[in-house]
Amino acid sequence: MTATERLRDLLTVEAAATPGPWTVNGFDCLVDADGEPLLSSSIAGDPWVKDPKDDKFIIEARNNLQPLTQAVLDVLKVHRDGGVWEFNDSRDYFGDDEKPHWCKGCDDNWPCPTVQAITKHLGDNDE
Ligand SMILES: [Zn+2]
Repeated sequence: MTATERLRDLLTVEAAATPGPWTVNGFDCLVDADGEPLLSSSIAGDPWVKDPKDDKFIIEARNNLQPLTQAVLDVLKVHRDGGVWEFNDSRDYFGDDEKPHWCKGCDDNWPCPTVQAITKHLGDNDE
């Protein structure tokens, strides 16, 4: 699975979930944007999150997953493989399978440092 596929899968999961923002109401209950509880005893057996830090994590994940994921996808749309460098003498130095590629976003060698920083955490990206 490429980094882009992984990010798109996250957006699919995010889009299918109850819309945000999520918060905790005055009864320490995780609620959706309309104030409706999000946990039921049929799912977890216990509708309460035991540790308030978990509330914060769940809320931050719900409220930030989409924009952060979309930001990384947008960066990957800009920084993409531009194909083989077409500079003079390249054919003299590299075989057909070894010719370096360049990044359309920053003109650095492919994969550029920006893409390497992302794929280091999310896996290679072939798109
Ligand atoms: Zn780049």
